[in-house]
Amino acid sequence: MIPQPLAILERYYGYSQFRQGQKEVIESILSGRDALAIMPTGSGKSICYQVPAIAMEGITLVISPLISLMKDQVTFLNQAGVRAAYFNSSLTPRQMSAAMYNAKQGIYKMIYVAPERLFTEVFLDFARHTPISLLAVDEAHCISQWGHDFRPSYTRIFEFVEQLPKRPVVAAFTATATRQVEQDILTQLQLRDPYRMTTGFDRKNLYFAVERPYDKTDYILQYVRRYPEKSGIVYCNTRKSVDELCEELNSHGVSALRYHAGLSDQERLENQEAFLFDQNRVMVATNAFGMGIDKSNVSFVIHYHMPMNLEQYYQEAGRAGRDGSPADCILLYSGADVRLCRFLIDRGLEDSENLEDGQREALRQREYEKLKQMTFYATLDTCLRQFLLRYFGEKAPGRCQHCSNCQDNSRLVDVTQSAQSLLSVIVQTGQRFGAGMVVDVATGAKTARISQMHLERLPGYGSLAGMEKRRVRSIIDHLVSKGYLSILEGDYPILKLTPASGELRNGEVSLHMKVFASKGKTPPPSKQEVEVDGALLAQLKQLRKRQADRLGVPAYVVFTDATLRDMCAKKPTSLEEMREISGVGAIKLERFGEMFLTEIRNYAGQGEKDGTIKF
Ligand code: ADP
Repeated sequence: MIPQPLAILERYYGYSQFRQGQKEVIESILSGRDALAIMPTGSGKSICYQVPAIAMEGITLVISPLISLMKDQVTFLNQAGVRAAYFNSSLTPRQMSAAMYNAKQGIYKMIYVAPERLFTEVFLDFARHTPISLLAVDEAHCISQWGHDFRPSYTRIFEFVEQLPKRPVVAAFTATATRQVEQDILTQLQLRDPYRMTTGFDRKNLYFAVERPYDKTDYILQYVRRYPEKSGIVYCNTRKSVDELCEELNSHGVSALRYHAGLSDQERLENQEAFLFDQNRVMVATNAFGMGIDKSNVSFVIHYHMPMNLEQYYQEAGRAGRDGSPADCILLYSGADVRLCRFLIDRGLEDSENLEDGQREALRQREYEKLKQMTFYATLDTCLRQFLLRYFGEKAPGRCQHCSNCQDNSRLVDVTQSAQSLLSVIVQTGQRFGAGMVVDVATGAKTARISQMHLERLPGYGSLAGMEKRRVRSIIDHLVSKGYLSILEGDYPILKLTPASGELRNGEVSLHMKVFASKGKTPPPSKQEVEVDGALLAQLKQLRKRQADRLGVPAYVVFTDATLRDMCAKKPTSLEEMREISGVGAIKLERFGEMFLTEIRNYAGQGEKDGTIKF
């Protein structure tokens, strides 16, 4: 009799219920039907093919693009008591033949394989002589040239399937798929009447925030000091900022690592491993870091710079809280980010050799438009989650109550008059200057350039005297984001009026802006977080680390943060109670149950001894 999916989920993963979409995909695969699942990062796609793989007779092949991803999954499965292996270029010929020998003996239930390996003689021969019941294609968007991580060898998967004596069920999984990519997946894999599952983009455990700190580095320092137990990623747009920020954090005693394409393969690999194995808790990185980072206990993703578009932002921010624990996604915004992004877009396009001028220009406009949407997000007054979800084509309520805008109680201030003064200064100076000069003129600064050009004679000179320069600057940013000013790029960016500016100048409309607390603003607490006993959690994390080191696996392979938190909340006193903890399956109960119980008991006992009540 085929074991029930729920029984498998409980036994091997220790979870008591399926998440949205999982059950349907699993059942349809088990009924022999192909599947295409588009589910966000962290929603639990792996379980959708692993549970059927465990339930079905024969072997499941999982095609996966990344070595680190395969390694993680295989380590997890073996720890959970499911025999699995991977075939990719990281294996030595000797390891490869040992794994192949085992595979031929029918030892493995699941085999992860890089698409490039499919057509090697040895693998093909093995596949032809082995009953393969399911072929799961992970990160299926790699099949499409329209996707962001195109892998040519993905396009040959169907050719591989055709060579098998019996066609297995084929199931494709991805987190991001536009209509075009979806179509490519369907046609290139020749899926047969697949069961389609698209679950929402919303990640309820993520807290979204946009902050405009006076000093971004200081903000990050405060944040990581405030949450010393949290591990996370800080993304920067340039390698130089990664190096500088990483150094700065370390000089303040925060154990940070760096990751970008300018480092040697060796350093990148070492740093990545150290982060995955919780030896260092902060990773400062460019967008080169991430794809395939399966670390489930990333508690925050802070963007030091605004990314170029929301697709990139959501993907990077989405690396937080994969295990369902509360996590923070904080964007640190400043007006200068927009210019940096424009520069990076332009440079990227100049570097693309195979483009004709027309194509390049069209791409530039598209990228600029995406940047505009990203900037809208960064300067929004209303619900951040709503904006994100709508951008990705989903319906969303007006207020999520779990983002910095919904929770922000700062007042909206009427800045119409100041805005009018600024527009006047821009007109009076002939629409030929950037924000720096406009701020100087409006605040009545005494600079050499101003006196050389006699700008102090203008009626608008000093019209905002007494107002902090930074504040004036933020009103200009706000005018740009609301479409009352545009930026003309040239040798340097120049502020220009737009058709909409007239209404504001004439007082037909008013302009409101949120006043942001400046300097000493402390980072937001993770408000959704359920209070658990921090000391016990820290102790359990230490025990987990010792076990992980002993086994040579990342800590979250032993138990995820969510599981440890559940232990702290429920404080099991027996193995039966331990079994009820989310993430403690039968095998893990056997391996780790007793020692975690002992730790919890000792902790309680210690409390009784020193008179502090712990539970
Ligand atoms: P994805 O591949 O969609 O990004 P994963 O398969 O890596 O997501 O799952 C993310 C996390 O969610 C993992 O820690 C996984 O164990 C956990 N998870 C998956 N399904 C469930 C479930 N039904 N209940 C609780 N946790 C789950």
